[in-house]
Amino acid sequence: MYSFTYDVLPVRVVFGSGTSKNISDEIKRLGCRRALVLTTPQQSGLGERVSSELGEFSVGMFNGAVMHTPTDVTEIAVKVAQELRADCLVAVGGGSTIGLGKAIALHTDLPQIVVPTTYAGSEATPIIGQTENGLKTTQRTLKVLPEVIIYDVDLTLGLPVQMTVTSGLNAIAHAVEALYAKDTNPLISMLAEQGIAAIGRALPRIYANPEDREARSDALFGAWACGTCLGAVGMSIHHKLCHTLGGSFNLPHAETHTVVLPHAAAYNAKAAPEAMARIARALGVDDAPRGLFDLAAKHGAPTSLAQIGIQAGDIGRAVEIACASPYWNPRPIEPAAIRELLDNAFEGKRP
Ligand code: NAD
Repeated sequence: MYSFTYDVLPVRVVFGSGTSKNISDEIKRLGCRRALVLTTPQQSGLGERVSSELGEFSVGMFNGAVMHTPTDVTEIAVKVAQELRADCLVAVGGGSTIGLGKAIALHTDLPQIVVPTTYAGSEATPIIGQTENGLKTTQRTLKVLPEVIIYDVDLTLGLPVQMTVTSGLNAIAHAVEALYAKDTNPLISMLAEQGIAAIGRALPRIYANPEDREARSDALFGAWACGTCLGAVGMSIHHKLCHTLGGSFNLPHAETHTVVLPHAAAYNAKAAPEAMARIARALGVDDAPRGLFDLAAKHGAPTSLAQIGIQAGDIGRAVEIACASPYWNPRPIEPAAIRELLDNAFEGKRP
């Protein structure tokens, strides 16, 4: 018999090709007129295009978003939003840009329209991670949940292949942990399996042809599905380790998820057999941790922490931080076993 509690999140989703041309309709729908466009330095061109297409509905652009949402950048951006008397935010980019929008919303309550250009999934969650003094802390509050998500497949056609693969695996990680979450439910499990399957079949096609629109559409749908899982239920050891490695050692977000995921899945495999069976079925493989490893390895993604910038000497401190505060995981958190997990991830061993 089923028994669960599920708070469905209030968010409007617009999905398709060319949808980012209609951002001003969404601004009007929210009763707003003065949007501040947010993006990263690398995506300034896209930000400027969006801002100019908005015409009188744009009051300007802030292009200072960086990874892991450092609080000093947020302070500057809040000042810019206040000086320009912005009445809403339009975040165009990946999780870093969306994270900045959420951080501004946390301080100002401004409504957010987000236009994701990666598969990280932040757009679909009421979660914000912020970094201050080398520590990343996360909180859940509806204050940061974007009001509108505009998925435009066209904006993902140019996402470089390597980022596509790592960002796709970042999305899959949300669904993997949702499948063994303590507070999961049948709807989220179904969505998680569909999300993993959509991204699992899209990545090889995009790897072969980055402009394959059907595959890009599948991947973006998968990102929404997996992001919705992240927003709906609690995450476990995998996300804890990635937050530690990202926030305290400044490792790149999607690559870290890609490397750690097969090892986190292996850590939990015996404690979560049903989740492993669903992951394997979604990927069309016999063994979930190996299937996840192979998906990365076959498509040119990094498979070891050593490759993405952490030193062997840092692993001990990462274990300490990751084990410092208690949280739920299907298998109890055992520091010696976590050490082994991270050593395997450091060396890039196939699980
Ligand atoms: P990112 O947003 O940092 O993007 C990486 C780089 O790629 C940036 O320079 C960006 O401008 C560029 N880029 C993005 N889309 C592009 C495109 N289509 N074409 C070319 N370049 C593009 O990376 P990310 O992995 O999307 O996001 C990582 C951040 O998001 C981390 O800080 C992470 O903590 C956060 N995140 C938060 C949540 C949440 O629910 N709060 C969920 C997932 C990720």
